[in-house]
Formats: sequence, C-alpha cells, structure tokens
Amino acid sequence: MAYLQFLGAAGTVTGSKHLINTSDAGDGRQGFQVLIDCGLFQGKKEWRERNWQDPPVPANQIDAIVLTHAHLDHAGLIPRLAKQGFQGPVYATPPTIDLCSVMLPDSGHLQEEEAHFHNQKGTSKHTPALPLYTLQDAEDCMHLFQPVQFGEVKQISPEISFRFVHAGHILGSCMVELLLKTNGQSRKYLFTGDIGRVPLPCPYPAAPKSGPEAPGRVVHAGPNPGEDPELLVMESTYGNRVHPHDDPRPQLAQLINDTVHRGGSVIVPAFAVERTQKFLFMVKELIESRQIPRIPVFIDSPMANKAIEIFMKYANEFNDEARQLVSKYGSPLSWEGFHFAPKQEDSRKINDVHYPCIIVSSSGMVTGGRILHHLMQRLPDPRHQVIFIGFQSPGTRGDIIKSGHKSVRIYSQDVPIRAHVAALEQFSDHADTEELLCWLSTFKRKPQNTFLVHGEPEAASLLQQTISTKLGWQATVAQWLQKVSLA
Ligand SMILES: [Zn+2]
Repeated sequence: MAYLQFLGAAGTVTGSKHLINTSDAGDGRQGFQVLIDCGLFQGKKEWRERNWQDPPVPANQIDAIVLTHAHLDHAGLIPRLAKQGFQGPVYATPPTIDLCSVMLPDSGHLQEEEAHFHNQKGTSKHTPALPLYTLQDAEDCMHLFQPVQFGEVKQISPEISFRFVHAGHILGSCMVELLLKTNGQSRKYLFTGDIGRVPLPCPYPAAPKSGPEAPGRVVHAGPNPGEDPELLVMESTYGNRVHPHDDPRPQLAQLINDTVHRGGSVIVPAFAVERTQKFLFMVKELIESRQIPRIPVFIDSPMANKAIEIFMKYANEFNDEARQLVSKYGSPLSWEGFHFAPKQEDSRKINDVHYPCIIVSSSGMVTGGRILHHLMQRLPDPRHQVIFIGFQSPGTRGDIIKSGHKSVRIYSQDVPIRAHVAALEQFSDHADTEELLCWLSTFKRKPQNTFLVHGEPEAASLLQQTISTKLGWQATVAQWLQKVSLA
C-alpha cells in the first residue's frame, strides 16, 4: 500500500522531507520512493542531531527527490544523502538549480569551517568533529539535478507524475502537484513547500498580479488560485500570526538615521539569497530619495555576488514593482558605495570601519557564517543597531538576540548584548494566517485531508483550529515519522 511519511519539518520549521513510497516494504515488493524536499534540520541541538541519523529507508533505495526551492531547510541535506548512497535525479526549477549550485557548496564550506574550529578549540564531544558534508561533496552532487520548467508535466515512474506551480516564496520556488496512480485511480496531492506572500486584500479570483500590495513587501506574484488536491501538505510557519502590512521603509529609515546620529553602525543578519537582494534595493531607494545619508553598505557574504547574478538572470520572475526597480537601478554589483567582500580578508577589514555604515551578512539566523564576527565585535557597543529582517527559529542565536537576552554565545564566548535590536517582520517571504486562508479559500474543492508541516507546534495547532473553524476542513498537525496511507 502506498504511503506518505513525514521525515522532517514536523513539529519544527526545519528539515523538510516528505517520503512517498508507492508500495509498503511490508508486502515484500520494493515500491518507488520519492522525497519531496531534503532539508537540513537547523536550530536546537536535538533537531540538528537528526541530520546525522540514517533515513528510515536506505538512501540508495530512494529513487528521486522533487525539490520545492533552494533554502537549506528544504535542500540542504541532499549532499549528505548522496554521500549515503542516493544516486537518483533531483528535479528542480532552473533558478532553484542555479541557487543550489552556490548555496549547497557554501553550506558544505560552513560545516567544514565549524568542524575545523571545534577541532582546534577541542570544543566538541566528538574527536575529531566532522562536517555533515564538505564543499566538495556538495559540488559532487550537483550532477544529479535535472531541470523541470514550471507547468511541465514530468512522469517519474509508472505511478507518479508531478508538475511545478508557482509558490511565490523565493526565486524559483514552487509547489509540487503530484499525481499518484493507485488501484487504477489517479489522485492529486499538493505539497506547498514554503508559500510566499499573498497580496491583501485578497485579490482572488481576480488576477493576482492586479491586487494591491504594500510597497516593497511582495517581490513575486504569489501562489496560484484554484487548486483542487485530495490531500494537502501545507506549511504553517506563520499559522499563529499576522504580519504588519505597512510599508517598512519609514521605520527602516528611522532606525538607520538614529544609529548614524549615535555614531554607530547597522548590522543586518540576512539570508544571502532573496532577503539580501530585497533589502539592498530598499536601502538603495532610501539613499537615492535622500531619506537616509549616503553611508557605505558592506555586503559580506561569499554568496552575495553569485546570488545577485542569478537574480538578475531571472528578473522576469519578479512582479511589476520589483522589475521596475531592477530596470531603474541595474545590478547592485555596480552601485557606488555598495562594497562586496568576496574574500575572508575583505570581511575582516570591515571590523576596522569605525564610522557609520550598514553591514549585511549571513547567515540570517546567525547559525554560522561571517555575521558571527561582526556581531561579536559590535554587539557589546550600545551605539550599534541590529536589525532582523527574517524568521528566527527557536534556539538559534538570532532568536536569542532578538528575544532580549543579555548575552549570546559565539565561538564559545559569552558576548554581551548592549547594541539596539529591532525586527522588521514586513520582509517575510512567508504568507501569514490571513494570507494562507485567502489562498485556501480559492480551492475548487476541500481536500479530504490537510496536513500541516513546517511550523512550531503552537503555530501549527492554531492554524489547524483556524482552518477547521473558518473553512470547515479536516486538518491535522503532522507528526515526525507519521505514516499516512495513500490508498
Ligand atoms: Zn523557504
């Protein structure tokens, strides 16, 4: 009997991994096994340790991966799985493949650096501390990727075909509409991956592109209306909240101006992909409209240049407003006063900048990367300002700093937090509760079952209640390793 099993992003927002097996191994037959996403667990140690566990089915028996987007919590375990024996195709959209070709090696590099650090300092209980995978492992697995265009129907086994549809979350992101034939019947399952912003007030059933949008908030056109799956597997990151829908620019300008008056600098931990580009265009606009002074902006992420090039290559994916900005200002790589730090020594030189500047660096949740040394240096000084523009998973350093703690542990040292800390939630690339309901209300029929994944327990359970009260749908919060029969 065919089944679906949640191997990650159940009870947490990371480690997205959902297995479909067309035949239960119990009957002696080996079915076709496909993973929707293959993400890294991030955040709390108990979650991260799961990255080291063997998958419940041997990696060499997994036939294919269908990938929704390039974020590491969806794609970051692919090199590990390949190391464990997975040799099947990884189906993804062309922009997702381009993004993975820089993000996965970068992830391998960060893990090597972290293992190296622990080995030097003797701070790991494992001797030697090992990376989950290396930069080379990540590069080696890229040949498994196969491009599939949006809308193209791809048959991957006699029983399974799928189609990518827009999710509007980040560049290249998609949902997976999967058709499974069992007992002579074809059933449609929809895996949302991460769902981007839905312009409010709810624009459906009118063309989504014509809907009103808060300025600077939405980069993509949003998910498609009118889905009709029998079973829905949906993210619930913001199942317990509604984002502020106002324009973030006045508040951002105020924070930057206040910091400049104090003689401090603004430090922005940002995901190198999508969020950094969105933020740079906003800062550029604020500078050009003289709402903030022309201070230097340092973009300190090894991936930033490559990610910007990929963004410019696929600029046709953006909505009208974002496309206009791109054609008005061109590539951030050529902007005066915007400095990129491709090498480690360029990064360290930013520590010597003692006049007001803006430093944008990754990782976005302060789990690793060059942002660590910028925060280590500037967090203890009250003149500086940290601005979070992304989700902070519980247990990450980003979450600790954002939630008002007095200190945070970086490179085995307790670093006092005296700098100002602010968070601008408007930048989110995830739909909030109101937006999710708006999108669900366009469905042509109610799914027989809706499983909520990719949410902290509180968010997922509140969304479950909201969906059943407002839409009258049967919804379930997915449990880790739970199996659902697909007969
Ligand atoms: Zn994502």
